[in-house]
Amino acid sequence: VTDLVKHFPVRAGLLQRQVGAVRAVDGVSFKLRRGETLGVVGESGCGKSTVGRTVMKLLEPSAGRIVLGKADITSLGRQAMWPHRRNIQMVFQDPFSSLNPRMSAGDIVGEPIRNFGLAKGSEREQQVAALFDRVGLRPEAMRKYPHEFSGGQRQRLGIAKALAVNPEVIVADEPVSALDVSVQAQVLNLMIDLQEELRLAYLFISHDLAVMRHISHRIAVMYLGRIVELAPKEALFEQPLHPYTEALLSAAPVPNPRIKKQRIILQGDVPSPSKPPSGCHFHTRCPYAIARCKTEDPKLREIRPGHFAACIRREPGETQPALAPAQH
Ligand code: SF4
Ligand code: MG
Repeated sequence: VTDLVKHFPVRAGLLQRQVGAVRAVDGVSFKLRRGETLGVVGESGCGKSTVGRTVMKLLEPSAGRIVLGKADITSLGRQAMWPHRRNIQMVFQDPFSSLNPRMSAGDIVGEPIRNFGLAKGSEREQQVAALFDRVGLRPEAMRKYPHEFSGGQRQRLGIAKALAVNPEVIVADEPVSALDVSVQAQVLNLMIDLQEELRLAYLFISHDLAVMRHISHRIAVMYLGRIVELAPKEALFEQPLHPYTEALLSAAPVPNPRIKKQRIILQGDVPSPSKPPSGCHFHTRCPYAIARCKTEDPKLREIRPGHFAACIRREPGETQPALAPAQH
């Protein structure tokens, strides 16, 4: 994904004239490798779901490029996109609303196999049965309807449906957020097992840092439509380089109580993505902001090997652990 942009028009007045644009995704680039989970984290409204939906081509990108394997799918219409749909599937937050309540679970999982003409009759039934087994659902469950399943089972069903066409990439948008914490780990572990077995690539969207830590290999942190930090999981948690990431991590519960950490309270609310601040979009809330931050727009740069941050106070090659607070 290269320089992806997704703007939504803002309309007002009787004639619904366009008066501006919400810059939901404002120049996002990343690579997702086979067998890898790239986590996308940020507060609600940061654009992470829009990234997922645009990559899925459920939304048309305003600019940028999306390449799936060797295929540039950026400007493919519905029909031209169809053959590529097999390779990229989605798992939703609320499996209940994404599963047809009037179809049996077996038909739900078999539907994509039929739609793509991959198998029919008893062969399709066998494939569906194998998928149920693979996601930990009993064969009897094939005859049940979505309302007869628990939340965790419904998400297993959603995963089975996504896997039915053998995709290479799965975009998962908050797939465990609606589940009890005890069930979350089971579903995440299932996804990890499936990934290892099938070399799936996950674009895993979540606001939950504990979930991110469990499943991601690399993590992208988004703020106001942009990636402000991108790093391997360990580096991000142990030594965040962007002040926004540092604040996010400081607000999350500490798994190890021996590590004392100071909570960083950010000033003010997240600014509107239709009127982002000048310079560094984070300068209105950043405890380390200096005068230059109001005018300079920091690019995402590789500060340490594989560890990118968009902050003018971080320089490539530097090793300073912490930024000095700004003098006010
Ligand atoms: Fe904070 Fe300035 Fe860095 Fe932005 S560029 S994160 S305002 S220090
Ligand atoms: Mg969302």
